Amino acid sequence: MSKASTSEPIKTDAVIIGAGPVGLFAVFELGLLDLKAHVVDILTKPGGQCAELYPEKPIYDIPGWPMITGEGLVENLLAQVKPFHPHFHLGERVESLTRQQDKSFRLTTDVGTVIDAKVVVIAAGGGSFESKRPPLEGLEVYEGKSVFYLVRKIEDFRGKRIVIAGGGDSALDWTLNLAPVAKSLTLLHRRDQFRAAPDSVLKMKALAAEGKIKFELGQLHALEGEGGQLSRVIAARDDKSEFPIEADVLLPFFGLTMKLGPLANWGLELENGLLKVDTEKFQSSEPGIFAIGDINTYPGKLKLILSGFHEAALMSQAAARIVNPEKRIVFQYTTTSTSLLKKLKAS
Ligand SMILES: Cc1cc2nc3c(=O)[nH]c(=O)nc-3n(C[C@H](O)[C@H](O)[C@H](O)COP(=O)(O)OP(=O)(O)OC[C@H]3O[C@@H](n4cnc5c(N)ncnc54)[C@H](O)[C@@H]3O)c2cc1C
Repeated sequence: MSKASTSEPIKTDAVIIGAGPVGLFAVFELGLLDLKAHVVDILTKPGGQCAELYPEKPIYDIPGWPMITGEGLVENLLAQVKPFHPHFHLGERVESLTRQQDKSFRLTTDVGTVIDAKVVVIAAGGGSFESKRPPLEGLEVYEGKSVFYLVRKIEDFRGKRIVIAGGGDSALDWTLNLAPVAKSLTLLHRRDQFRAAPDSVLKMKALAAEGKIKFELGQLHALEGEGGQLSRVIAARDDKSEFPIEADVLLPFFGLTMKLGPLANWGLELENGLLKVDTEKFQSSEPGIFAIGDINTYPGKLKLILSGFHEAALMSQAAARIVNPEKRIVFQYTTTSTSLLKKLKAS
């Protein structure tokens, strides 16, 4: 998996927005038809809702799998797409999509990755997962400079005075992972109970007992600093008394919400916040932009993974006709086609 962050445009056949189960299966279906894909997701790992919301829950309606967990399905999909070497841009949110003069599309992400693609596949599910922001005055001045909702590179936090706020898995995991590189690390949570794996809580408490981190009971109350650079986080206890914590960086981990996000502004036809598509190609109101999985709507739509897989197969046929208009598409089975088998075995 690569994580490019460059302003030099990357050229590819297809760009897929969303690395959920449907976006991943689209890589496979496009790959069978020789289309190369780049996949962008705001989350730092592939799998969409399956990986983020229910990794350990059993799913019972994936054809051929009497039972498989969310995590297991994602692992299998990643193994299935391996022969096609997709490029993943994880932890990046797609911000803009424009049509270029040569009819291809230019997509840009919030970290400056630019991808030029002949077709766009929107597999954005219920929208992008976005971090819940704490209600602090002047927060936006610090966001992206000294307040972060995800950790892209641990090294960026070396030698920093870090405050982590929250009591879930992300807060605890990052407390454990950042403690060795931080100058100081304080975990701030409103109570002494956590919604995280018990093992992580024990490890965090051991670090606090050894004096390697501090655990404080309280809530975020205010930020102090200059020009977006934090100097102190002001926390408040239940009795409303306040106390300062010296800080270079604040990482609030208060969970995720799903928002349609920037794609609502791309001029595509929407119905109840979903992208309208036809049921032959699963193409949106803009030729060359397809929408598959939970993000689309059409008469009879079922928001099921298996429906998304079917949509990915039909979408790929139409996408291949746009990318390689001169090439005749021959319907083939993976079991019997020697050319398909050759592609699947090349990894
Ligand atoms: C608790 C629960 C149980 C479920 N059980 C079942 C079940 O048993 N069977 C079943 O078939 N379905 C089940 N579902 C539904 C199933 O998970 C969804 O149908 C499926 O995840 C849809 O896949 P997707 O790839 O379309 O979207 P998602 O899984 O939502 O993935 C979309 C991805 O796109 C990314 N994204 C969106 N916008 C952007 C952007 N602008 N930039 C970058 N990335 C972006 C998101 O971060 C996300 O990772 C369940 C859902 C839940 C919540």
